[in-house]
Amino acid sequence: MQRRIQLVDIRIGEQVSEHYDLVTHNTMGLHCDAQHFVSVTNEDELRAALSWAQQKRLDVSAIGGGSNIIFAPTLNGLVVHMAMKGIRFEGQHVIAAAGESWQNLVDTSISNELFGLENLSLIPGTVGAAPMQNIGAYGVELADFFVSLLAMHVVTGEMHVFDRTQCGFGYRQSVFKAELKNQFIIVSVTLALESEFTPRLDYPDLQARFATSHCSARQVADAVTEIRQGKLPDPFKVGNTGSFFKNPELTPDQHRRVAGRLDGVPVHRIKDGRVKISAAALIEKVGLKGHSLKSAGVSEQHALVIVNLGEAKSAHILGLATEIMTAVESRFDIKLEIEPVRLGFTDIN
Ligand SMILES: Cc1cc2nc3c(=O)[nH]c(=O)nc-3n(C[C@H](O)[C@H](O)[C@H](O)COP(=O)(O)OP(=O)(O)OC[C@H]3O[C@@H](n4cnc5c(N)ncnc54)[C@H](O)[C@@H]3O)c2cc1C
Repeated sequence: MQRRIQLVDIRIGEQVSEHYDLVTHNTMGLHCDAQHFVSVTNEDELRAALSWAQQKRLDVSAIGGGSNIIFAPTLNGLVVHMAMKGIRFEGQHVIAAAGESWQNLVDTSISNELFGLENLSLIPGTVGAAPMQNIGAYGVELADFFVSLLAMHVVTGEMHVFDRTQCGFGYRQSVFKAELKNQFIIVSVTLALESEFTPRLDYPDLQARFATSHCSARQVADAVTEIRQGKLPDPFKVGNTGSFFKNPELTPDQHRRVAGRLDGVPVHRIKDGRVKISAAALIEKVGLKGHSLKSAGVSEQHALVIVNLGEAKSAHILGLATEIMTAVESRFDIKLEIEPVRLGFTDIN
């Protein structure tokens, strides 16, 4: 047994890079000196990497495409890049490996005449990260099609299956960002798709494009792609993590308290009398669209997006975010919540 552990240790140890710059592993384009880094392509490599980290008493951070992470300048422990690939169909179920690109899953599902994911086109990143914040766009979210996921426990290396209820999905939320934070690494995700295409065109942008519901899944996916390309800065050209803040959700009491101040900011009724408020509109109202702090800027294209205008550091990005949050809170008495995950900051656990 001891010999096997040593062999695993040697094998994974050879693949680990030290002082690895994560700049090409995050769409914000931030430099981050990771103490140890390894890319894993299958379950055995992942288990070996976790066991290696356990032996060395290192913290572990999993990353996919880095499209929803703000890295600190340094990150202690072992960073595990999830590079497992594979998509397989079983009837209406699709099972995709964590490192598979989300966009590839959307495209492959449509090509296999299984539907439902069209509105989630062009969301950057990997399949394994999708459950973390229950990705969503244009009235659809992962939870709508989710069956289960397979995840490895960071300490024991054991595999666990989580069904939809156990994942505790909410608006950009799951149990893996809350009570099970840092405890599991997602290895694969199973979704149940639809064999008959039902367009979901409730969003005004989509309604404006389709006069009737006689359209194909590919047409809807293409329309979503075009709309997003027109609205959001391309992370391959200008560093960003998409929406930087969640749209605030208010209870009826909270809404009553702030309603007089909203000054035309759009409010959408959700459920139980709650409302969702456009964070972008709040930021525009406080006059910060286009505002910058050193090399961090509020996108001219979309006020919800913070962009890296050059060689921004995480301190500039988060400093600008604080400026925005303070301005919004003092004018509207509404607290904005940062959406991307912050890794390596000692003041955030
Ligand atoms: C231009 C742009 C547009 C975007 N639009 C949307 C949108 O419309 N809707 C939306 O919901 N999001 C959106 N996002 C955010 C982002 O695309 C999603 O959150 C995506 O799921 C992140 O995938 P990733 O592989 O890049 O994850 P990463 O950024 O690498 O990781 C995100 C989090 O998940 C964890 N993680 C990653 N992989 C695993 C794993 N296998 N197991 C356990 N934990 C893991 C990381 O530790 C981190 O906490 C957008 C981002 C950009 C840049």
